Amino acid sequence: MSQIIDGKKLAEEIKEQLRPVPHHGGLGVIMIGENPASTIYVGQKEKLTKELNIPFEVLKLTEWDDWLETKEDIKDFCERKDLAGIIVQLPLPPGIHAEGILDLIPIDKDVDGLKKCSSFIPATARGVMYALKSTGTLMTGKHAVILGRSKLVGRPLIDLLLAENCTVTIAHSYTQDLPSITKTADILISAVGKPSIVNGDMVKEGVIAIDVGITRTEAGLKGDLVFDEIAKKANFITPVPGGIGPLTVAFLMANILGK
Ligand code: NAP
Repeated sequence: MSQIIDGKKLAEEIKEQLRPVPHHGGLGVIMIGENPASTIYVGQKEKLTKELNIPFEVLKLTEWDDWLETKEDIKDFCERKDLAGIIVQLPLPPGIHAEGILDLIPIDKDVDGLKKCSSFIPATARGVMYALKSTGTLMTGKHAVILGRSKLVGRPLIDLLLAENCTVTIAHSYTQDLPSITKTADILISAVGKPSIVNGDMVKEGVIAIDVGITRTEAGLKGDLVFDEIAKKANFITPVPGGIGPLTVAFLMANILGK
């Protein structure tokens, strides 16, 4: 049976490393449209900023008729001196593209690390690396397989895992014969957002299994991994909820504070 990586406990560790928080610029969140999941995620970010005494503001926009006018509002928000970090809460409503909004965020405030040449590492990717390091496993020479190639998770992980001397494979929706790849993983990171996309037959004994995926279902929050099956074979596994989620919020705070 595997050891469960406790994301909540690790997130507490990070928070302690951030304290005491000096007087600091705040976090500004741009929210567009109504999305119940986004409301919850923004609420989690607000809670932690409050706990750490970091100012917090939301710019809430409904879908617009006049982009030029809205653009000015976003620009003014992004340029506020009292906000050290600005993020766009994803996903955006259909037909609205993140790029146009990201262009308005100054590079030194892009705490989600989504702009080209950003100096910030996306918080989820930092959270995954922290979870891996918490296992005490030497990563050098291990085969790390990432499912999902988004800018927020999969792509930054390629560089971070290479820096640990892993051999890295990245899979996406066009990948063929996924089980033949996942079975060779010493470290498996799934960031797809499809519940049960990875089951116990798709992993080898002793794998470290990291579940980034979060999907809201009628039965509650579900990760990408069939937890019970994989937990029987893995050395370490992250749960959903309580795994990478709390680490992501904690590392967002670290990014805002420049740590
Ligand atoms: P995304 O932008 O939608 O990316 C999903 C990725 O999965 C894409 O690269 C897609 O491939 C790939 N994919 C789809 N079907 C696949 C399949 N059958 N086999 C292999 N890859 C497949 O999503 P995201 O923003 O990265 O988020 C992914 C998941 O992580 C979501 O559930 C999200 O809620 C969750 N998430 C959690 C946290 C956290 O804090 N725990 C943070 C961020 C995201 P293509 O590129 O070919 O389309």
